[in-house]
Amino acid sequence: MSTLAALTAALADGSVTVLDLTTPLSGDTPILNLPQPFANTVGLSLSEVSNFDDNGPGWAWNDITVGEHAGTHLDAPVHWITGRDGKSVDAIEPARLVGPAIVIDKSAEVAENPDFVLEPEHFEAWEAEHGPLPANCWVLFRTGWSARGASAETFLNADEQGPHTPGISVAGAQWLAGNASVSGFGVETVGIDAGQAATFDPMFPAHHFLLGADKYGLTSLRNLDQVPVTGATLVVSPLPIVGGTGSPTRALALVENA
Ligand code: MN
Repeated sequence: MSTLAALTAALADGSVTVLDLTTPLSGDTPILNLPQPFANTVGLSLSEVSNFDDNGPGWAWNDITVGEHAGTHLDAPVHWITGRDGKSVDAIEPARLVGPAIVIDKSAEVAENPDFVLEPEHFEAWEAEHGPLPANCWVLFRTGWSARGASAETFLNADEQGPHTPGISVAGAQWLAGNASVSGFGVETVGIDAGQAATFDPMFPAHHFLLGADKYGLTSLRNLDQVPVTGATLVVSPLPIVGGTGSPTRALALVENA
């Protein structure tokens, strides 16, 4: 049997399942909210073209308005000044969007400290236990944060010091950006940087180092508690917006059942 025939047979008999890691996209989906004086993006809105009525008696369709960086979305290199000469979302090779998913679970630590950040030692501890990161992998940061997704207030978790959400340190971002096996970094939070990352040096190190090194970001993931630490395959499918800095995306994991 060919490899793909074995895969489709496994999908048919349920020994491999397709897990949706995507946050449903609606006008209520939490989106990033930058402080003044910066401009902000918009979430999803639908504008009806027809709905089985005089404008289209047999069909329904909508126009959509949505920010590139709304809901579960991919960050392309050109999103950041360090990657501005890099790839826009349409230029990302499809092979980079399908690869092994590895999970780093810090949900217990984040429950104690919402400002928890990943450091190089956390990646090194993962590799000591599971081996080197596999080629073309997506590093998924499991934090439990998606459980807050029903409420923008608890999901964004801001006070007078700004948002308090988990992320990655300057050294941690440099470690990931310097690893040739890494295709991208996926998180449960609204953006790939920590809530307090505006106070880091450089600011927003996940964006700064990863997008500057042709690594991609993936945000607002759900169901990471159902993805095994190793062995799943991630499929990311952003729209090929020509010149786009990112795109809302579906993110799926193929998971092999024991
Ligand atoms: Mn983004």
